[in-house]
Amino acid sequence: MADTIFGKILRGEIPCHRVYEDTHVLAFLDIMPLSRGHVLVIPKEPAETMDRLSDDAAAALGRVLPRLCRAVMKATGCTAYNLLQNNGPAAHQAVFHVHFHIIPKPSGEAGLGIKWPAGKLDAADAAALVKSIAAALA
Ligand code: AMP
Repeated sequence: MADTIFGKILRGEIPCHRVYEDTHVLAFLDIMPLSRGHVLVIPKEPAETMDRLSDDAAAALGRVLPRLCRAVMKATGCTAYNLLQNNGPAAHQAVFHVHFHIIPKPSGEAGLGIKWPAGKLDAADAAALVKSIAAALA
């Protein structure tokens, strides 16, 4: 995996506004926040995208995310927030080290804006998808 800005932060080569750290996870303020309290949560394991992350690193992230969300809510007073995780350039990933965004969603323009071009699930395709995803999981 290529070195990233988050790798440099993990190695202490560049600073960050750290809000949480344990053996497997680091959380810090996003340097270009979408809203006040925008936090990034990263595994220390250097995986580019979620599908490449080990189960152990994913479990460590999952264990701490709810606590970090509660802390951001308490600190900012927000009652709504988005948890965002981008994978791949087409999905707006800019830093190729797995990360979750915790983005407070105040009323008004601040926070994450989402375009949600919902379609309609086709019954035959749903059956095919269930079969192929289940096969891929086996
Ligand atoms: P993504 O588009 O999901 O890859 O988001 C990458 C995020 O990393 C962006 O929101 C950036 O503002 C943030 N970012 C980039 N460099 C830094 C940095 N040095 N410290 C904190 N956040 C950063």
